[in-house]
Amino acid sequence: MSAENVVKCSVNTCNYWKDMKCHAPSIEINSKVMSAKTSSETECTTFRPK
Ligand code: SF4
Repeated sequence: MSAENVVKCSVNTCNYWKDMKCHAPSIEINSKVMSAKTSSETECTTFRPK
């Protein structure tokens, strides 16, 4: 199963983005701070600019 089937994404400037979905084979999400407590403190490391 690829991320396309399970990951909804709105980052339309990403190379893997199409039709409001992620088309990467898999994605990696990491914390931007030592201990993330909100979603805004996380980020998609797989993002690649178009
Ligand atoms: S790699 Fe990350 S930012 Fe890019 S489309 Fe997938 S989920 Fe969105």
